[in-house]
Amino acid sequence: VSSAQANYMRVVVEKAAPTENTSSSIVGVELLCVVRAVLKKIKRRVLVGDKVLVSSIDWVDKRGMIENVFERSSEILDPPVANVDHLLVLFSFEQPKVESFSLTRFLVEAESTGIPVTLALNKSELVDEETQVAWKAKLRKWGYQPLFCSVESGVGLDSLAFILREQTSVIVGPSGVGKSSLINALRGSKHGPEEDNWLSHIEGSKWFEDQRVGEVSIRSGRGKHTTRHVSLLPLSGGGFLADTPGFNQPSLMRVTKKSLAQMFPEIRKMLSTNDPAKCSFSDCLHLGEPGCVVKGDWERYAYYLQLLDEIKIREEFQ
Ligand code: GDP
Ligand code: ZN
Repeated sequence: VSSAQANYMRVVVEKAAPTENTSSSIVGVELLCVVRAVLKKIKRRVLVGDKVLVSSIDWVDKRGMIENVFERSSEILDPPVANVDHLLVLFSFEQPKVESFSLTRFLVEAESTGIPVTLALNKSELVDEETQVAWKAKLRKWGYQPLFCSVESGVGLDSLAFILREQTSVIVGPSGVGKSSLINALRGSKHGPEEDNWLSHIEGSKWFEDQRVGEVSIRSGRGKHTTRHVSLLPLSGGGFLADTPGFNQPSLMRVTKKSLAQMFPEIRKMLSTNDPAKCSFSDCLHLGEPGCVVKGDWERYAYYLQLLDEIKIREEFQ
């Protein structure tokens, strides 16, 4: 599924059953699909990025019906995208100024998805070399290999494009750091801006009206355009980039007291290299318990404690 608007999905064909009566080149053909009602009834939501089984294909009008959803390797909810391979956490050196605790919250939220994370700082042309060197050293100690870029000057965009190649990626970060600017700078040539509102092409057509009737009866009165628009943009180096940036308010809802430590590369490293590589207590929260192998002599330990308090309070009230 390459994009979704309301209950309509665009599906790029990867394979067709040999019995399908098709011309030779169906790979890459885009079908406009609706989701079979039974999938909605069992609350099987179809997300952009999903691999789906399509039936009732009309190869002339390029229409079809989504019958089933294959198992996902990952799933994020903001924006709703399945099978994401890679999260790019984007901050900016200035305007707004990168701040360590806020950056940590985003990194923890990103790590909690289980999807590999890359960190990039934008607007590098606004700061001097010295500032960049200092941030690089700091972020390396956190366990990241940061990329510095400037959508304004073009610096670092090649390296970013290289990192994003052949993967499905979502850019996340606070507002104003340049996420939309970066998406526009990286988007492949296949999809022009006029493609953004493809639903308007079919709105008003007979087919659209027919499908909409079915939709309203299933959803009994709920608004028809409730699904947030999201598309996967094909990148020139292969791979896809979601056109909608992700979570700009990390909720940390997936993170528990116990799992928080795993969201810090520093702690992961201490747990994997220390001998014995385990704290004495299996439920150790690394607060100075006897036999704890996680010491407090690293920059973000204070942030770990602060987030742990926040999560404890949330869990008590749940
Ligand atoms: P988003 O909220 O993260 O999507 O950020 P936007 O892409 O809307 O960008 C916010 C502002 O930052 C806009 O005025 C952009 O023109 C500006 N901007 C984006 N990239 C750069 C950059 O590399 N350098 C500078 N100086 N400004 C940038
Ligand atoms: Zn411990």
